[in-house]
Formats: sequence, C-alpha cells, structure tokens
Amino acid sequence: MPHPRKPRPSRRAAPRPGAAPEGPRHGTVADTASTARASETAPDARPSEGHPPYLARPDLHADCGNCFALCCVALPFAGSADFAYDKSAGTPCRHLRTDFRCGIHDELRPSGFKGCTVFDCFGAGQKVSQGTFAGRDWRTGGPAVARRMFAVFPVMRRLHELLWYLAEALAAPRARPFHGELRPLLERTERLTHGGPEDLVNLDVEAHWDTVATLLLRVSEHIRATVPGPRHDHRGADLIGARLKGADLRGASLRGARLIAADLSGADLTCADLIGADLRDTDLRGADLTGSLFLTQAQLNAARGDATTRIPPALARPAHW
Ligand code: SF4
Repeated sequence: MPHPRKPRPSRRAAPRPGAAPEGPRHGTVADTASTARASETAPDARPSEGHPPYLARPDLHADCGNCFALCCVALPFAGSADFAYDKSAGTPCRHLRTDFRCGIHDELRPSGFKGCTVFDCFGAGQKVSQGTFAGRDWRTGGPAVARRMFAVFPVMRRLHELLWYLAEALAAPRARPFHGELRPLLERTERLTHGGPEDLVNLDVEAHWDTVATLLLRVSEHIRATVPGPRHDHRGADLIGARLKGADLRGASLRGARLIAADLSGADLTCADLIGADLRDTDLRGADLTGSLFLTQAQLNAARGDATTRIPPALARPAHW
C-alpha cells in the first residue's frame, strides 16, 4: 500500500482486558454488556470482498489519508512494549511529520511501536477531521481548535466503536428478532456522531454506551443459545497463557477475558462472544473465527495468526501475520 498518512498508534500502556482504550470512562461493553478493544486495519489490508452490506461500511474503517493524525496527537501513550516512549495527550508524536504522515511507518514494529500497528479508530479520525471540523486541521486551526478536536476524538471513537458492534449485530441473521431495537439505536448513534464539537464534548457517551451494551448482551445471549451442547462461560476470566489448543469454544462467552499469549490454535470459536477480550499475542493459528461475535480488527491485529486462521469476512488479515 502506498505510504499512508500514518498508521494507527497503539495506546499507552498495554490495554487491559475488556477495556476500551480511551474515552471519558473506560467501561467496556464487556464490563457492562458488551465491548471490545481498539483495533486497526493493518497497513496494507482491506476488508474482504463479499461481506454483508452493513460490514462493508467504509466509514467504520480508518482512513488515515483523510485524518489529521489525531491518534498520533490526541491520545496519551506510556512507554511500554507497544510504544517506545511516554507521550502526553495533545502532544504530537515525535515521529509525526508536518504532512500528518508517520516518519517511521515502515519500521514501526522494529522501532518499538508495535501498538501503532494495532490501534483502530473505527473511522472516527476522518469523521472528526472532515466532518466535525470540516477539514480544518489542528496545526493551522490554532490552540482552541486543537483542544476541541482532541477532546472530540475519543468521544467519536467511542461512538464509532458502538456503530461497529451494532452494524455487526444487524448483519447477523440470528439477531433478526432484535432488529427492531438495533436499528433505532444504530440510527441514534449515527445522529450523535453528526453533532457539533460542543455537542460531542458534552455528550454523556458512557450512558449511551451502556444502553447499547445492554442490548448487545441480549443479542449475544440469544445467538449463543442456538449452539447445541454445553457453552463455556469465561466472561472476564483470567486465561493468560491458557492452553486451549483445539478447544471447542462454540457459543462460549469470552467477553472481556484475558487471553494474553493463550494458545487458541485450532480452536473453534463459532458464535463465541469475543467482545472486549484481550487477544494480545494470543495464538490463533488454525483457529476458526468466522462466526465469532464482536471481534474487532484491533483484537485481530494484536494476536498471532497465519494463513490458516479463519477470520470473519468483514475483517482483514493483519499484514504482519
Ligand atoms: S510512531 Fe508516532 S507518528 Fe508513527 S503511527 Fe505511531 S504515534 Fe503515529
């Protein structure tokens, strides 16, 4: 892929399981009723062809070429395995160029910025840059515009993450009984994203998050109940390093589970709810994720996989696999 404006940065400290990166509060859908972590579309990866219309929405995929590198400026990072140094919110990353491109795009991982290849804004960056602020950038707009823009970005990202989950739920045939509730919530969430800077900054996004999360949990339970046989409940479980190779996890709840470095190779995750699950360095080689619920690109990017990993059609195989 041609040199994008900049890839997405990771967040500061390694994200905790079930915790969405930023936002006024970091409650997660998993904590309350559903959620997932940040993600990013791998630099040269695009969504697969032929996926359901709702998941074909380009506005829910990061478009760095139409964003003023908000994730490289607005968010704080802590020096960690994901980000090589401390950076405060509102401070441009030292590697960000004046043209809003990343100066080390091709060497992010070896340079200690692995997290930058994982993060995903769900399309919030371009929405804030081109929509909310109508193409004004934080460099030339002055400090007041910059402050507002940086405050709006996490809220927009939160809303776009909800749009992703709602869109996925609406695309699931087995969620049809909930369409009457899902559609109005999706439309309401869409409307919120079109508010002005003040509307967005003053929005109680967590209250809206909780409303959506409650419905998504009901959808998840309904879909998972269609899976015959025992269904494992690992919600919020500490499964760090767990040996789950070849496990039958169909219909399991893994909401907010910590699966860091767990071995899920060859596991069947059909109808498994992965919202908010921490998949950093999780071995997904040969795993079947095609029918999983609420998996995001960021989760996939953070995990380990290969050509034998079966991924949902709306997501892209990470370039570093
Ligand atoms: S290294 Fe800096 S400029 Fe490059 S993607 Fe990460 S945060 Fe952005």
